[in-house]
Amino acid sequence: MANAEQREFKTETQKMLDLMINSIYTNQEIFLRELIANASDAIDKIQFESLTNVDLLEGDSDFEICLDVDADEGEFTISDNGIGMTYDEVIENIGTIAQSGSQEFLQKLQEHQNDEDAVDFIGQFGVGFYSSFMVADKVTLITRAPQADKGVKWVSEGDGTYSIEKVDKEERGTTIKLDLRDDFTAGGDEIDVTDRQTIQRLVKRYSNYVEYPIKMKFYPENEEGETEEEVRTLNTMKPLWERNKQDVSEEEYSEFYQEVFQEWSDPLEVIHKKVEGLVKYTTLLFIPEQAPSDIYSEDFEQGLRLYSKNNFVMDNCQKLLPDYLRFVRGLVDSPDFSLNLSRETLQDNKQLKIIGKNLEKAVLKRLKKMLEDDWEQYLKFWSEFGQLIKSGVNMTYGDKRDKLVDLLVFPSSHSDEFTTLEEYVERMNEEQDKIYYVTGENEATVEKLPQMELLQEKGLEVLYFFDEIDEFVINNLAEYDEIEFKSVLSGDLDLLDEDEEDDEEDDETEELLAAIEENLESKVDEVRLSKRLKSSAVCLVSAEAGLSMSMEKVLEQMNQ
Ligand code: ADP
Repeated sequence: MANAEQREFKTETQKMLDLMINSIYTNQEIFLRELIANASDAIDKIQFESLTNVDLLEGDSDFEICLDVDADEGEFTISDNGIGMTYDEVIENIGTIAQSGSQEFLQKLQEHQNDEDAVDFIGQFGVGFYSSFMVADKVTLITRAPQADKGVKWVSEGDGTYSIEKVDKEERGTTIKLDLRDDFTAGGDEIDVTDRQTIQRLVKRYSNYVEYPIKMKFYPENEEGETEEEVRTLNTMKPLWERNKQDVSEEEYSEFYQEVFQEWSDPLEVIHKKVEGLVKYTTLLFIPEQAPSDIYSEDFEQGLRLYSKNNFVMDNCQKLLPDYLRFVRGLVDSPDFSLNLSRETLQDNKQLKIIGKNLEKAVLKRLKKMLEDDWEQYLKFWSEFGQLIKSGVNMTYGDKRDKLVDLLVFPSSHSDEFTTLEEYVERMNEEQDKIYYVTGENEATVEKLPQMELLQEKGLEVLYFFDEIDEFVINNLAEYDEIEFKSVLSGDLDLLDEDEEDDEEDDETEELLAAIEENLESKVDEVRLSKRLKSSAVCLVSAEAGLSMSMEKVLEQMNQ
């Protein structure tokens, strides 16, 4: 290394390295994702440049990323045939920290120098190449830019200095060799980075959809017990969401859904959107056919998967969709997500908020369309997830709530079918000024209620609320389309025509009522003469301002 130049890292770079080496990051395995993401970016770049200057390719356009391990030496190597770097570029890019957003980063680093939560803000910035030092005590990078005579070798032990020199390198691109810390080799306390299966697993997890092949040599034994070299491609590559939706078949969506989200059935609906606006993202969402059995449990932790340019960032991100849409499966890929987006920093992520709002809108729009275009399918959806939509009505307000209200359907006395509120209102006759509902166990019990008689006779439709949450939802709404909801079980229904109005109760009746009231003592508040009964002799009602019977039941259960 006679002509190698020794240089020092910029102070901030060293500070960052120290933080990293002292393992502020608990998730060291992400080093692999970072290196693969850099390699993939470098290939993107040469591919782009070669469009206008094909000579840059030097005849090599089989783009690939190759991984190799050497368990005896404790080494891991990654090579790409991307754009490489010139001498000056190495100094500029590799000697300086976090090219992207560096100013803000450095300022924060200084503010928090000895802070325990340094990890949180480091997570917001690309740690990229430096993450190698989490698993390696020496990093060697050899790179050659296209059409350059010489390559460049950069070596550092993460101790504040690095050496850099010109070397010969035949192939274009970059090779990075890690001399692993003992902890990260066979027998160490951490993951064994020299183990091919481990590497395979990490690639699947973090880099499965990187669009260039990530290859590694394996040495399986053949039938004669001899080992044979076999080059395997570790990633699936095809990020389905990057394709045009016109080119993706229903089967492909289903296959992807089942493989990635470990589902067994086909999705009920697929939403695939590419958005280029204030925020740039692609999303692929699935509405499942069946609700998972633990969807109402407190520990239910299902969210969307985040990618940044095909690199896996995070699973089960629950911040994107509101809780009532927690049944939606899928992913969002945005170049605006940092690879190291941490759960702690999600809270204040503006892009995430905007994306989340858009996704919610898109899901509601799709559900509305399903309701309008495919009633059968909507009922299937409703039987699985209707409860959650109802809870959504309770959790939202304004326009969004209106959209959710449009998704509500109930059984009713009109027919055996469910009805939307809109359809109910369309069927109302001219004099009707209320939306009537009845709470109860099921159709048989509510249809037997004496209160129903009068309504039936007058041809008034009654919504059936068999779900305990229904009445809560409706009480919250109070009205639909400026029409009040009215329980047929509460107070007086005020339904009689003028000429049917009864005369004042006579003395005899009053006496009778008083006697019954005395007899029932504390069991009822009041005994009244009813105007609503036809063939039944008596019925129980709730006081006008009191709780309905089903609400009383809910509260009773809650008290137990
Ligand atoms: P980031 O990727 O967030 O910019 P890194 O520290 O990972 O930060 O990388 C710094 C820069 O080094 C990259 O922006 C790129 O210009 C260069 N670089 C890193 N890896 C490679 C590679 N494999 N090939 C070419 N250039 C690379």
